[in-house]
Amino acid sequence: MGLTTRILIAMLAGIVFGALLNFLNASQLLGSGATGAINSYLTGGLFDIVGRIFIASLKLMVVPLVLVSLVCGACALSEGSRIGPLAGKTVLLYLLTTAVAITLALCMALIIQPGVGVDVAPGGAFVPKESPPLSDVLVNIFPTNPVAAMAQGNMLQIIVFALLMGYAISRCGEPGERIAAFFNDLNEVVLRMVGVLMVFAPYGVFALLAKTFAELGMEFILDLGKYFLVVLATLLLHAFGVYSLLLKLLSGLSPIELFKKMRPAQVFAFSTASSAATIPVTLSTVEKRIGVDNKVAAFTVPLGATINMDGTAIMQGVATAFIAQMYGIEIGVMGYLTVILTATLASVGTAGVPGVGLIMLAMVLQQVGLPLEGIAIVMGVDRLLDMVRTAVNITGDSVVSAVVAKSEGALSEEIFYDRNYDSVAN
Ligand code: ASP
Repeated sequence: MGLTTRILIAMLAGIVFGALLNFLNASQLLGSGATGAINSYLTGGLFDIVGRIFIASLKLMVVPLVLVSLVCGACALSEGSRIGPLAGKTVLLYLLTTAVAITLALCMALIIQPGVGVDVAPGGAFVPKESPPLSDVLVNIFPTNPVAAMAQGNMLQIIVFALLMGYAISRCGEPGERIAAFFNDLNEVVLRMVGVLMVFAPYGVFALLAKTFAELGMEFILDLGKYFLVVLATLLLHAFGVYSLLLKLLSGLSPIELFKKMRPAQVFAFSTASSAATIPVTLSTVEKRIGVDNKVAAFTVPLGATINMDGTAIMQGVATAFIAQMYGIEIGVMGYLTVILTATLASVGTAGVPGVGLIMLAMVLQQVGLPLEGIAIVMGVDRLLDMVRTAVNITGDSVVSAVVAKSEGALSEEIFYDRNYDSVAN
């Protein structure tokens, strides 16, 4: 059985097993003693440990992979002087897809009105963490110390450093060629390391999903059902509608093929709820299964995982309209235009780790004068939505990568349409 199939089976098994545990817990069918024991041995013990080791093994590869891969990519790109146009196209498409996502979210929320008639329950107290000012977001792109950037896993700073280094290597003549050969070899080794770790992925996916679903508070889903469904429907519409159109119109590639190839990476994003931790899988999927050349993917994928969060923007759009409707506050057309702008910027500033989208929502609400307590209310169903939106986030990265690669003549259609490629990373 191929690795992809095993990962998909692990995902389903984890969800079913977790939901079953959840049901046993809620209904106390086994009596409180037995349920408590199962909970502490499995959910709090085994699943927690396996899940955390799995996430650690993914995160372990992020910095080496991004650095090495991007140095190789930048070096190849600058030989053809393609860095500028490539960066411009990528950033433009990332911002554009996010603005479309949030507009779609607002339209859905304004038509369906999920917040009308919902009782403003006091909710838990929510103390918003300070969201960083926008000027800091910009200045922080530029590293003062590359080692510190790598130690902290600061993706944008690593990208800037790697681009500079790749560019310099390509301008160095013979010493540059030696270093480039070294980095190309290192790239093979790092990718192989990802491949080795992938063998254990089904166990990690199973443990993470079983734990999450066992602990999920299902009762919140009933209370916030309409909000939940509107976010979910918009996420699916954006993923299957907008991305398909974009891919077909801008590059003529088959969306169905891309979605099929992306499935394992989406499972990783869904189970970890972190685009950053999923970078190794997204990168190898985009290169090896979709056929995007390393010199493009090494730039677009880590950048996308850091600044392109369409799913997050969708949640923020629906949540803002939902909170406004729930509190009966009219924010008007100007208010909604402000939401489009701030949510686009907020999603750029959202780190690709679980739950941060909700923190950045505070920035959007503040901008249009909505009560921050609203966040405490939507928080109840956020974990599951976080998982789905993270899968959408990385799908957006892969679609833009394919479009940009096609326009640069850096996409292999042979690989794109090759059905036999099963392995996630080798
Ligand atoms: N978990 C999301 C991601 O990593 C970010 C968020 O929306 O909270 O892509």
